Amino acid sequence: STRIVLAARPSGEPTSSDFRTETVELDAPGEGEVLLETLYLSLDPYMRGRMNDAESYAEPLALGQTMVGQTVSRVLESAAPGLAPGDVVLAGSGWQTHSVQPADRLIPLTDPPTPLSTALGVLGMPGMTAWTGLLTIGDPKPGETVVVAAATGPVGSAVGQIARIKGARAVGIAGGPEKVAHLRELGFDAALDHRAEDFAEQLAAATPDGIDVYFENVGGRVWDAVLPRLNTFARVPVCGLVAGYNATGLPEGPDRSGLLMAKVLQKRLTVRGFLVHELAAGQRERFLQEMGQWVAEGRVRYREDVTEGLENAVASFVGMLRGDNFGKTVVKVSD
Ligand code: NDP
Repeated sequence: STRIVLAARPSGEPTSSDFRTETVELDAPGEGEVLLETLYLSLDPYMRGRMNDAESYAEPLALGQTMVGQTVSRVLESAAPGLAPGDVVLAGSGWQTHSVQPADRLIPLTDPPTPLSTALGVLGMPGMTAWTGLLTIGDPKPGETVVVAAATGPVGSAVGQIARIKGARAVGIAGGPEKVAHLRELGFDAALDHRAEDFAEQLAAATPDGIDVYFENVGGRVWDAVLPRLNTFARVPVCGLVAGYNATGLPEGPDRSGLLMAKVLQKRLTVRGFLVHELAAGQRERFLQEMGQWVAEGRVRYREDVTEGLENAVASFVGMLRGDNFGKTVVKVSD
């Protein structure tokens, strides 16, 4: 198997020297295990956090450990009841071409979606993140205004489109004119470029009735512009803060946490962090049924950014954190 391991802890943006490619011989699968071949590897922003040696909701990766990640994989050899060569499964194989996994940690894709990569995107973890975070915490009502950034990514694009299905007004924020144009195609009611000099003014103009739900994906400058626009009883599902994932310290300028707490009280805000596997625990079938239908009907559209070959995973991952990706980032590892 060829695999990519964590070679060093990055300071700021990861570089190729923070990763190392290795080739290893795998043992045959033992009782209850299967040998898997990776078809698609998902690259996600959370992986940057796992590279740090810092306290978080997940243990840091050890140096020398294979980079983690969800995969769509094919069974090559099975020593587990119920799984046969050729079966396609969702696995956590990480950044490697082959792996031996215990069968009880796999989710068989008995009715695999087309294309298969959507099991890692709109019909997978990111889609479920949008669905659960928006509907459970955001709870948008008809006529309300929902704002989301990283809005062409798998989480943000689903957030905006589900908001519209629920009758809300969706305002999407993305980096660059091409992405902004795509948001309009997806039916967002307004689309803004966070890199614009006058971004805060543009956001104010695009939210004349204030903001009722801000689905927080990025933090940073976007959050600074959003906070003063939040309405009384606004809900803020805190999903991710990707603008700061490569940061090496706190943001510059005065500490504004006092201002934030004052706003939380004055406006009776609900600000709630969540992890998809906790918030949507036990709801996978319901999610697949609902989202599957929206996708089939064309009410939720998606875009994927597919890179060929595991050897290109590092560049693709580093680029994603910068916004070079256009849609869900996946690596096609094998046919
Ligand atoms: P994306 O595919 O959208 O990739 C990240 C995007 O973030 C980039 O493409 C870029 O888009 C945007 N971005 C990067 N830096 C900035 C910045 N400084 N300001 C504004 N935007 C920036 O990612 P996902 O859809 O996979 O994930 C979105 C968020 O959801 C992440 O924060 C992720 O960590 C979080 N998440 C949380 C989960 C949970 O359980 N809580 C589960 C899954 C994801 P652009 O070019 O538009 O700027």
